[in-house]
Amino acid sequence: MADEEARGVERMEVSPGLPQTPQALAAWWDQQVDFHTTLLHHLAQLVPEIYSAEMDPDLEKQEESIQTSIFTPLEWYLFGEDPDICLEKLKHSGAFQLCGKVFKSGETTYSCRDCAIDPTCVLCMDCFQNSVHKNHRYKMHTSTGGGFCDCGDTEAWKTGPFCISHEPGAAATTKENLRCSLNEEVIAQARKMFPSVIKYIVEMTIWEEEKELPSELQIREKKNERYYCVLFNDEHHSYDHVIYSLQRALDCELAEAQLHTTAIDKEGRRAVKAGAFAACQEAKEDIKSHSENVSQHPLHVEVLHSDVMAHQKFALRLGSWMNKIMSYSSDFRQIFCQACLREEPGSENPCLISRLMLWDAKLYKGARKILHELIFSSFFMEMEYKKFFAMEFVKYYKQLQKDYISDDHDRSISVTALSVQMFTVPTLARHLIEEQNVISVITETLLEVLPEYLDRNNKFNFQGYSQDKLGRIYAVICDLKYILISKPTVWTERLKTQFLEGFRSFLKILTCMQGMEEIRRQVGQHIEVDPDWEAAIAIQMQLKNILLMFQEWCACDEELLLVAYKECHKAVMRCSTSFMSSSKTVVQLCGHTLETKSYRVSEDLVSIHLPLSRTLAGLHVRLSRLGGIARLHEFVPFEDFQVEALVEFPLRCLVLVAQVVAEMWRRNGLSLISQVFYYQDVKCREEMYDKDIIMLQIGASLMDPNKFLLLILQRYELADAFNKTISTNDQDLIKQYNTLIEEMLQILIYIVGERYVPGVGNVTKEEVTMREIIHLLCIEPMPHSAIAKNLPENENNETGLENVINKVATFKKPGVSGHGVYELKDESLKDFNMYFYHYSKTQHSKAEHMQKKKRKQENKDEALPPPPPPEFCPAFSKVINLLNCDVMMYILRTIFERALDTDSNLWTEGMLQMAFHILALGLLEEKQQLQKAPEEEVTFDFYHKASRLGSSSMNAQNIQMLLEKLKGIPQLEGQKDMITWILQMFDTVKRLREKSCLIISTASESIRNDEITHDKEKAERKRKAEAARLHRQKIMAQMSALQKNFIETHKLMYDSTSEMSGKEDSIMEEESTPPVSDYSRIALGPKRGPSITEKEVLTCILCQEEQEVKIESNAMVLSACVQKSTVLSQHRGKPIEFSGESLDPLFMDSDLAYGTYTGSCGHVMHAVCWQKYFEAVQLSFQQRIHVDLFDLESGEYLCPLCKSLCNTVIPIIPLQPRTINSENAEALAQLLTLARWIPTVLARISGYNIKHAKGENPTIPVLFDQGMGDSTFEFHSILSYGIQSSIKYSNSIKEMVVLFATTVYRIGLKMPPDETDPRVPMMTWSTCAFTLQAIENLLGDEGKPLFGALQNRQHNGLKALMQFAIAQRSTCPQVLIQKHLIRLLSVVLPNLKSEDTPCLLSVDLFHVLVGAVLAFPSLYWDDTVDLQPSSISSSYNHLYLFHLITMAHILQILLTIDTGLPLAQVQEDSEEARSASSFMAEVSQHTSGYVGCDIPGWYLWVSLKNGITPYLRCAALFFHYLLGVTPPEDLFTNSTEGEYSALCSYLSLPTNLFLLFQEYWHTVKPFLQRWCADPALLNCLKQKSTIVRYPRKRNNLIELPDDYSCLLNQASHFRCPRSADDERKNPVLCLFCGTILCSQNICCQETVNGEEVGACIFHALHCGAGVCIFLKIRECRVVLVEGKARGCAYPAPYLDEYGETDPGLKRGNPLHLCHERYRKLHLVWQQHCIIEEIARSQETNQMLFGFNWQSL
Ligand SMILES: [Zn+2]
Ligand SMILES: [Zn+2]
Ligand SMILES: [Zn+2]
Ligand SMILES: [Zn+2]
Ligand SMILES: [Zn+2]
Ligand SMILES: [Zn+2]
Ligand SMILES: [Zn+2]
Repeated sequence: MADEEARGVERMEVSPGLPQTPQALAAWWDQQVDFHTTLLHHLAQLVPEIYSAEMDPDLEKQEESIQTSIFTPLEWYLFGEDPDICLEKLKHSGAFQLCGKVFKSGETTYSCRDCAIDPTCVLCMDCFQNSVHKNHRYKMHTSTGGGFCDCGDTEAWKTGPFCISHEPGAAATTKENLRCSLNEEVIAQARKMFPSVIKYIVEMTIWEEEKELPSELQIREKKNERYYCVLFNDEHHSYDHVIYSLQRALDCELAEAQLHTTAIDKEGRRAVKAGAFAACQEAKEDIKSHSENVSQHPLHVEVLHSDVMAHQKFALRLGSWMNKIMSYSSDFRQIFCQACLREEPGSENPCLISRLMLWDAKLYKGARKILHELIFSSFFMEMEYKKFFAMEFVKYYKQLQKDYISDDHDRSISVTALSVQMFTVPTLARHLIEEQNVISVITETLLEVLPEYLDRNNKFNFQGYSQDKLGRIYAVICDLKYILISKPTVWTERLKTQFLEGFRSFLKILTCMQGMEEIRRQVGQHIEVDPDWEAAIAIQMQLKNILLMFQEWCACDEELLLVAYKECHKAVMRCSTSFMSSSKTVVQLCGHTLETKSYRVSEDLVSIHLPLSRTLAGLHVRLSRLGGIARLHEFVPFEDFQVEALVEFPLRCLVLVAQVVAEMWRRNGLSLISQVFYYQDVKCREEMYDKDIIMLQIGASLMDPNKFLLLILQRYELADAFNKTISTNDQDLIKQYNTLIEEMLQILIYIVGERYVPGVGNVTKEEVTMREIIHLLCIEPMPHSAIAKNLPENENNETGLENVINKVATFKKPGVSGHGVYELKDESLKDFNMYFYHYSKTQHSKAEHMQKKKRKQENKDEALPPPPPPEFCPAFSKVINLLNCDVMMYILRTIFERALDTDSNLWTEGMLQMAFHILALGLLEEKQQLQKAPEEEVTFDFYHKASRLGSSSMNAQNIQMLLEKLKGIPQLEGQKDMITWILQMFDTVKRLREKSCLIISTASESIRNDEITHDKEKAERKRKAEAARLHRQKIMAQMSALQKNFIETHKLMYDSTSEMSGKEDSIMEEESTPPVSDYSRIALGPKRGPSITEKEVLTCILCQEEQEVKIESNAMVLSACVQKSTVLSQHRGKPIEFSGESLDPLFMDSDLAYGTYTGSCGHVMHAVCWQKYFEAVQLSFQQRIHVDLFDLESGEYLCPLCKSLCNTVIPIIPLQPRTINSENAEALAQLLTLARWIPTVLARISGYNIKHAKGENPTIPVLFDQGMGDSTFEFHSILSYGIQSSIKYSNSIKEMVVLFATTVYRIGLKMPPDETDPRVPMMTWSTCAFTLQAIENLLGDEGKPLFGALQNRQHNGLKALMQFAIAQRSTCPQVLIQKHLIRLLSVVLPNLKSEDTPCLLSVDLFHVLVGAVLAFPSLYWDDTVDLQPSSISSSYNHLYLFHLITMAHILQILLTIDTGLPLAQVQEDSEEARSASSFMAEVSQHTSGYVGCDIPGWYLWVSLKNGITPYLRCAALFFHYLLGVTPPEDLFTNSTEGEYSALCSYLSLPTNLFLLFQEYWHTVKPFLQRWCADPALLNCLKQKSTIVRYPRKRNNLIELPDDYSCLLNQASHFRCPRSADDERKNPVLCLFCGTILCSQNICCQETVNGEEVGACIFHALHCGAGVCIFLKIRECRVVLVEGKARGCAYPAPYLDEYGETDPGLKRGNPLHLCHERYRKLHLVWQQHCIIEEIARSQETNQMLFGFNWQSL
């Protein structure tokens, strides 16, 4: 410390004046009397200078100067010692109790459904990962920004409020530490310093003068006055508008304008021009006028003095610094808060923090963000001060909201958005209600901002509203929800009073809504414009849970509820005055009369918005639940109650719905239809439709039942329809009447039958939810999300679904696709009610259909009577009297009579069904009552009423009689079961009524009787079922007899054809065929087996004609798709050349980085038909029928049959059967040994060389240097072992061969088509080899046997591909093929080695094998004749080529052997192990000991066997499809051991592979020496990292974590590699390699061939050769992409516990990896089906929006 001071003193001497070092400066400040003035003076000197270069600042330098000259001195001043040391100490003293992390937009937040007080309580990623909630039912969501982590807030969580890092244990010790380290002096300094700092920040932030600074900050000399023209951000102008305006006004480049615009969008303001005032002013006017041209509002531009700008900028920087300082200590925070809250004595001004709040709406984005963070890190971290802040907030609430409503920034950056942080804290909410009456404050705010929507009746009317503005008002409504979200547990008197005050105020809003937006039925003309309805409905949705919460709060206390009821009732009555005073009319029916107000829904005004009536209904139900109805008259006197007036408006609303269904309102347009939809939709119905039903139930319980029904008839305008005299032939009117009657009957059913509301019936909330679920599942089994979507959510966004679902349903897990569903348990079926009031029309008929079907399947009757309903609560018990009143009986009887009357049209079957339902309800009610109480006490006498005659007229009938008659009507067959059920019920009730008079035995007997009739019916049904079964059996027997005949006939046909083809074959062959029975299953060498060929007759999918494939006929083709592929790549992401101009594809690198795959969907066409089809597609493309679906220019089309994406066709060429005579072959074996074959081949090659290089030196001068220089080998000797003439293909086939070969070349090398390019044959061989390898790898991956498990399309594709490859050679100049062959052979024949021969280790030898075998016949070509080897010659050629290359491959494997692998040891001393050791010793010698010989023999042998198997399998596939020789049985099964020896036998190899070397030792030894001695090879060996080992590793999609939140966690740590800002990014994971990319962002775009592409598309080019699978982490979506412009979405492999995916994390349930689905995705990749998937999805979705894939 002393040293430091000394140094400071030294510096001071150097430069007199102000102290130079921070601590000296601090010490000097300390001596000054007035710190504030001193600080301002200091800032006045420095700030304008540091921030002078506003237009092009050197940010690093700026930051450094601020740090050294301002912040460090301030910190010295504060701590009195070296701040770094001090802060370090404070930091180590640990974390504090609250996390308080502020969320950025796009960040993932977590909530816990088990523990969070409400859904607004969230955790940040880190806290969540360290919390107990990780294992709870959590929810994941994406923040919109501005939120705050609630970890550590004990009020936010029921359990587990702390994560491990914010554990109070740790914090307690910390606090003590803090106390120790913050001594009194530091605190005293803070008290001096913080007020000045905050004052400066606030004053500068709200400084309004453009030209001048406050006097304290002005410095005397005013030199070169500089100004800035500053542009501000707003939400009106688009990016492009701003860029346009800037370019015009400033005359600048696009790039500069873009730069400015991006900065403005991010920061909120930016200086776009610097200069003299006049110049800036001019620029300002220019920008304004230009921006006015493109949109209505001008841009916000100001001219600011450079010093003002500098200080404002610094004020914010100082704010961030303050944040940092406060994060160290609670004391600092408290001191800061105190300073913020201090009101200046004698000043009218609010305290500093309030001044900031009030200025918020005027500030620009960047400033707001920093100031809000300042609030978060101070007030919100200290509970006590949070309360003070909240009080200030409520104090200015009205003003703040008003400012926000007229502000044009998003809510997320408005100070009003902080409300959620305070209002949802239960204690704070209670405090704010008690002390500041916050509910009234909020509702009054609403009342002050909403009047612009009031009409002359003082009702809201939102016609022509502004969505943005109303959206801002919703925010205020939301605040109401926050305040109410947690119901108080303790009610003080003050709380009650204040709450009621708030409730009264809230009723004022509802009063403005009651009856708003009235409508009148349009007659004659259709309305011209559909009125706006969304606003009103949206407000209803917003209000739904608030209304429910108000009712719940009221219901906390009976007294409170009664007072609230009274207030609400008064409000409803006030709104009903016009109704009360209207004129009257009289209705009469069957002796009952009702005098009521004359009103017709079809003529007068009606509204669906009745929140007051519905609130009253809600309160009534709650009062019933509390049992307080009896006290109601104390608060609302009977004479004032006016039940008819209460019922009136909800009834009108229901009638309106009925009339809409009856199409009476169709001229009122779609807007009404939508409103009616929402009225009953799950989002609104609780506070609309449901409450209207309840209000009618209230009416029914309080009114005389006959009068009530007359009122209903009157309002439904159906009194006439039930008048018997009615007779009309107007079909429309009849239809309308019928619909209205149906609608009314339904409502009556609901009024009487719907009791699943706690308070209406004796039910619990759980039972209500259960019933909802049962009825949903009666429609069909449903996934969890669909059920949840159809259940109402409470204020905590919960439906209560999980608590009950398992009681009524069983979960069925999903398969590899689809989703899990819940199925209803059988025992819950009995609760099915066909007339469930939440069913829509379609749901109703679906459910009815399903249930009837189910009953039929189970051989049950089809009656669907109502389930016995729960009992009504006492307050509603009188509702049932509706059932047995006169008018009801009259209605029912009328309906039945009309149904029996052949002349009447005034009935429908639906109406009858409802009437039956009502009957059933009545009987059930009576039965239940009779079972509970003695007969004489049951006054409910439905039975008697129904069996009484309706009138005294002659032909009068009672209902029972009518039913009997209805049963006999054939058209009503469908209702028979129901009628039977009702009649039985009549009997049952009758018996119960009589029970008391009879002895018990009779009763039981009668019940038995009942059972007997039931049994009888059952037996009958059984008999019928049995008869049906027998009938079915008979038919089946007949069918199978027919089938047998068919097979018999066709067998004959099959036999005869195979005979014929056999004859044909024998003519073509030059050697005789051995008997088929014991053919050999060896593909190579003298023992080669015969080709098994079948005559192929194929049907063209286009013209449906059959044709046999023959080499001389017109070609048939297979649709095919050629694509570049990286599925086998060993070094993913190897740089790729976008155009293959200079590529030499003859040799494939050993890492198989990029291959060319040929796939086919296996569909056959005539070449001619295909060409016609393709031309037709081209034509339709020109007419733009298929847009962007596929790229026609590169030959793409969709397979006409299966719609797979194809881009070419493969000609189908029949395999030429070749059989060799084994005797001849054995004889030749003596002559043609490998030792002779090699020189013969070399002689032929050198002969060509001499021929082609006339006069020049031959390229390969010395061939016979190994003692083989024998003259027996000359140019023609190769021909002496057997030749035959070449195959002649038809022109049509040749044409197709060229076409396909060119496609492979074009796509494989990304070159324009050129059929003469020398690389065309190379690409043919390459795609053959690669396709074989890919398929072999896939089979291995899936654990399938090599043969027999191939899909048909793979089998046909390979067959066609190999035969094509044979034919392809004949379409090229043979000299070219020879050249390629020589280069290929040079890999294994060192004599041919040239400069471009690759090193043995860097080449894939299977590719060499395929190329060499296919090219080899070219050696038989001569100038004059085109010959090819005979079958015997070929079999030797194949054998020796294969053996040579296999030996080279063995060496490859052993050289690259990985000695670190744990392998199962075979016998230590096997023959193979010994051979291996001795061979390795040899190799070691030749590599000068580079490869050690100390590896145990058994290890070598096992490694070799493992390593070579894929190669052998590929070779077996290759030779099989080339030659058609049947492979051994073992290759058709799945045994590894059997497979290996079968492979060896098929390929003529000894099972001890080292014996190969022994057999050919003299010939091969020199080769081995030269292979090993190659310096390139030794070099390769040294580069361990790039070495490829065998077997090659199998590619898999990257491993994903089981828990999706881990991926989200990873994504949250993702930083864009190109930009430093922390703005929202879209991290996207490549599932091939695991790279995380910055997607859909300009920062990471790349240019490819002059086009801008997004990071993902660019990555895909390297990683997957253009094809790739990505996971969008934030959205949990998988996307498949191909090329630059194509892609599709694919279901992600993550499922929630209900077996459903969650694209976009909309539901937010925990997600876990589904391995089966991930595996399926892996196979899509490995099977090369990505392109196909994309094409298919584009085909199905082509009408939908187009995503710009290029930017991904
Ligand atoms: Zn946190
Ligand atoms: Zn935490
Ligand atoms: Zn929890
Ligand atoms: Zn055809
Ligand atoms: Zn197809
Ligand atoms: Zn990748
Ligand atoms: Zn980026």
